[in-house]
Amino acid sequence: MPNTGTCKATDCNHEVIARGYCRKHYRLWKAGEMPKPRYKTCTEEKCRKPRVRASLCEEHWNAAHGKKAEAAAPAAPAAPAEGASA
Ligand SMILES: [Zn+2]
Ligand SMILES: [Zn+2]
Repeated sequence: MPNTGTCKATDCNHEVIARGYCRKHYRLWKAGEMPKPRYKTCTEEKCRKPRVRASLCEEHWNAAHGKKAEAAAPAAPAAPAEGASA
């Protein structure tokens, strides 16, 4: 038996060939499709985006701080009703 164990990709139990990945995932890794351990990723479970603030990606940092994607602009001023005649 190989002494390298199984692929470290999620839900993959194939035999490792390199870099901790199986043949298939190693190819993906080389193609840049797998998360690289060199940079730190968001600590949110199942999130592999790079960290931007604290230990979270932008999306999760915003979520954690109650910020929506964009600050909601005030609603449009009262528009004249349709068919207004004066
Ligand atoms: Zn794999
Ligand atoms: Zn995240």
